[in-house]
Amino acid sequence: MRTEEEVKKVLFDEEAATSLVKELRASFTNGKTRSYDWRVTQLKSMLKMIDEREQEIVTALRDDLSKPELESTVYEIAMLRNSITLALKEIKHWIKPEKVKTSLTTFPSSGEIVSEPLGVVLIISAWNYPFLLSLDPVVGAIAAGNAIVLKPSEIAPATSSLLAKLVGEYMDSSSIRVVEGAVTETSALLEQKWDKIFYTGNGRIGRIVMAAAAKHLTPVLLELGGKSPVVVDSGINLQVAVRRIIAGKWGCNNGQACISPDYIIIAKSYAPKLVDTLKSELEKFYGKNPLESKDLSRIVNSNHFTRLVKYLDEDKVSGKIVYGGERDITNLKIAPTILLDVPRDSLIMSEEIFGPLLPILTVDKIEDSFDIINSGTKPLAAYLFTNNKKLRQQFVSTVSAGGLVVNDTTLHLAVHALPFGGVGESGMGAYHGKFSFDAFSHKKAVLYRSFAGDAAIRYPPYTVGKLRL
Ligand code: NAD
Repeated sequence: MRTEEEVKKVLFDEEAATSLVKELRASFTNGKTRSYDWRVTQLKSMLKMIDEREQEIVTALRDDLSKPELESTVYEIAMLRNSITLALKEIKHWIKPEKVKTSLTTFPSSGEIVSEPLGVVLIISAWNYPFLLSLDPVVGAIAAGNAIVLKPSEIAPATSSLLAKLVGEYMDSSSIRVVEGAVTETSALLEQKWDKIFYTGNGRIGRIVMAAAAKHLTPVLLELGGKSPVVVDSGINLQVAVRRIIAGKWGCNNGQACISPDYIIIAKSYAPKLVDTLKSELEKFYGKNPLESKDLSRIVNSNHFTRLVKYLDEDKVSGKIVYGGERDITNLKIAPTILLDVPRDSLIMSEEIFGPLLPILTVDKIEDSFDIINSGTKPLAAYLFTNNKKLRQQFVSTVSAGGLVVNDTTLHLAVHALPFGGVGESGMGAYHGKFSFDAFSHKKAVLYRSFAGDAAIRYPPYTVGKLRL
């Protein structure tokens, strides 16, 4: 027999989706979500929700991913808190019309850009940072004055169900709703006409989302993934570099993060030193038996576990594992694993890894790394460790990726003044800070004229004399 919860989920079909959107659209149309007070109240309620229910959030994240508490509190909860605090601080400036210069053609006139809410928006999120990735876009959508449906990932069921419960308790349910579910429910939602769809996840589903949106000419913001490379130059502080690579890889959900380092490129002669340093730092952080470490998330489910193990068991990578490789299928754990000199046409180098495996490619000259990166699809992030200004300049000007970091990994995500998003196959559009507000706003061009300055040249008859003016 199905549980009540399961029955409710199945009942969320196209008819239910249509009626939900109708309800939210009525709420948007009556102007409720546009008001400054509504926006601020909702943001404050979300803050209160985090403050009062933090422990439940940490527990749900532990249930879904055995995510270490520190990672949950810093990378999911504190990051969201910062987003809300910033929005509350800045919203008055964000919503203010922006004055612009006008031209001689329109003299006398004034102009401004008015940010207007888009309407009713759909946010579909992924399982790896299931709390942050669900609510961070909601912050932008609220700040911009929209009605919102959030569809969290079914692959993180504890967080999904907690989000449904908490949003129901703390937020205005006439304008902000959570729909739980998987393909059936998301497909029902995607049949509806939205004013924007914000999707986080893989590119295969991104294409489904974009095709559904095209039917209604709905704009999309796609936060996708990719193979984010790390180029390691020689003559650097290798220990610091390695610690920062480890923090961005295994310290971010055990590599299950969209901007985690996917692979390293290094000069052949320097690679043994890198491998030794990685080994010793990894052992310091996670001990001799990392499968037992409480500081590493588990692999989210058996499908992803099988996918990752397949990379390691492919014939082409046989003998390439220089560290790790241990796995525990019962607890869905895979140890931090380093592979050296894997063939470029191996499976592990053909797909986004999204897990604790780190291949190292070697090159004769470090400058060759940029061609390797640019020969693949555009990644969500790219990293370079160097002291060489010329190399750094070359990296910034030639490597195309959603974002770049020099001498660290992943931290661009924490800078609200930087847009966060992909390019090419790693996504389209960006959010964070004011970019989140802009992502959910229409920038309405408004020109103000008076009755003065009515130039005769605009009007027929179009005489030769007018042409010469
Ligand atoms: P996922 O499996 O949770 O899927 C994402 C969402 O798509 C879920 O809500 C799911 O219900 C929905 N979905 C699944 N199948 C669907 C279908 N057939 N039709 C409509 N909706 C469907 O997450 P995932 O895709 O495994 O996430 C991992 C990927 O996301 C990686 O590529 C990663 O790099 C990327 N990612 C990107 C960001 C970013 O901010 N750019 C953040 C996290 C993850």
